[in-house]
Amino acid sequence: MLHLVNVMEILVKETIEDILKTNEEFCACERCRFDMAAIALNKLPPAYVVTMEGEVMLRANSLKQQIRVDLIRAVTEAIQVVSKNPHH
Ligand SMILES: [Zn+2]
Repeated sequence: MLHLVNVMEILVKETIEDILKTNEEFCACERCRFDMAAIALNKLPPAYVVTMEGEVMLRANSLKQQIRVDLIRAVTEAIQVVSKNPHH
């Protein structure tokens, strides 16, 4: 079974979870997490791949090495934007 996946979305969601887990001052409700993901994903290029189900994380991790700095910067900015003006 093949999947069409934007691996950038996986990485953004993973990075948001990591940052929220260690920074309890930011709201981690579903609305805020989705808003953060939307803002970060609009700043980062999409990274669609066609992949087998078991290979998705492999593709995500290989992209993560390449874009780590941009990824963390975009997610950190998105968390700050949402925290200043939450929609929950
Ligand atoms: Zn919230």
